[in-house]
Amino acid sequence: MRVPIIAGNWKMNKTAAEAAAFVRELAPKLAPFTGIERVVCPPFIALPTTAEALAHSEIKVGAQNVSEHEKGAYTSQISAAMLEGLAEYVIIGHSECREYLGETDDVINRKIKAALAHGLKPIFAMGENLTVNEAGETLAFVGGQVRAGLEGITAEQMQSIVLAYEPIWAIGTGKSANAQFANEITGGIRGVIESLYSATIADDIRIQYGGSVKPANMAEYMSQEHIDGALVGGASLIVDDFVSLVQAAQETKGA
Ligand code: PEP
Repeated sequence: MRVPIIAGNWKMNKTAAEAAAFVRELAPKLAPFTGIERVVCPPFIALPTTAEALAHSEIKVGAQNVSEHEKGAYTSQISAAMLEGLAEYVIIGHSECREYLGETDDVINRKIKAALAHGLKPIFAMGENLTVNEAGETLAFVGGQVRAGLEGITAEQMQSIVLAYEPIWAIGTGKSANAQFANEITGGIRGVIESLYSATIADDIRIQYGGSVKPANMAEYMSQEHIDGALVGGASLIVDDFVSLVQAAQETKGA
């Protein structure tokens, strides 16, 4: 059985002190929902205070990116070794990093390998833009991102990976994808995983939906067969909204 996972991607929001204060308020409210894996992904600078504030909580911490390099002359970058002990998860391949930082499928593949080599669990994000979507080519496009991102990743390593289908046109726009469409694409991604690995690995891998997920639409996403949680931006910045998302997931799919 796949344990649903909800991860809040705070992007460039919250200082170190604000992040710690936020999770101190959030953690007790999320504590009852033990059937859902709950993750917050603060900015790098807020990882230590957030991790410390959550030290006695089941809420997990994720980073928002990682360098593909081990160490060296890469000004501004953060390596996987630096994240060890501070984060359990790391988002890799977010469309904002693909767009603003020029991250290619090849770079993303190397980042996934770097993260795994240091015991971090990648939340590997993928998604199409509006042009691809309107051309009806979403699954072909996203399937290509999946194949490229997972090049050289072993079946055993797949156990540490979460996938996140995030249509770019739905991120931060308030224009969420139709739940049946999101299910069709996440189901298609599962099919790609089966063709690359096995039916068991495809059945076990968790696939999140992301893109304007809100308390009002969460239950509909979570009631879809192939959607195992959400990667959430805006709504994860508000304590009560975050709690409502997790509650909806627990009521729909929680163990
Ligand atoms: C995201 O940043 O991954 C995201 C899905 O953002 P939002 O929920 O705000 O659309």
